[in-house]
Amino acid sequence: MRIVVLGLPGAGKGTQASRIAEKLDIPHLSTGDMLRAAVQSRTCIDKKAKAVMERGELVPDQLVVAAVIERIARSDARRGFVLDGFPRTIAQAEAFDDLLHTRGLELDHAIELQVDEQILLTRVMARAREARERGEQVRADDNHETLRIRLDAYKKQTAPLIDYYRSKDILKSIDGLQPIDTVTENVFRVIRRTMLKGCRGDQRAHE
Ligand code: AMP
Repeated sequence: MRIVVLGLPGAGKGTQASRIAEKLDIPHLSTGDMLRAAVQSRTCIDKKAKAVMERGELVPDQLVVAAVIERIARSDARRGFVLDGFPRTIAQAEAFDDLLHTRGLELDHAIELQVDEQILLTRVMARAREARERGEQVRADDNHETLRIRLDAYKKQTAPLIDYYRSKDILKSIDGLQPIDTVTENVFRVIRRTMLKGCRGDQRAHE
């Protein structure tokens, strides 16, 4: 199964994507994590990408698309994957569709976690403050000013993906402000429904 999880920064994409990955036994691919790891190990990502991420803006499409192409070509992604934080622009989504198409594959779900921006802002800032008080390391882009830039980047560059996937009839929108376990239940309800439909289709094909 191939799934992308969409939603504003802090909407809970990482948590839900990792639960989906665990349950379906497929890799959880977070482009944010990939980019942070690459910046840390100073591989192909240059200083410019690091600065872009710290400002809360999006790194260039080619760079992220190349990282995703390389990652999903690995054997553990053959059965599927759940992408968190990708695609984030229409250009990325189109490049990704082309890639899947050339391999005869399809995206099964685009799951959108819907959240209220103001509640989210308060929630993320409280979480960062609590982590700081506990002496834990806080992400460089988890501050009010950068978060605002990340929210704006989402609205301008990523939100058009909602219509993009709706027009392909694979968009599922879920209320992301409910308790975490309720959100997970709703995510799995959506996934199960498609799996059942697929099974019935297979069954009919064999009748
Ligand atoms: P995240 O952990 O998903 O919030 O991503 C952290 C940062 O990594 C973002 O603010 C961007 O600077 C960069 N990033 C992650 N994924 C992408 C993507 N698909 N396209 C462009 N930039 C990305």
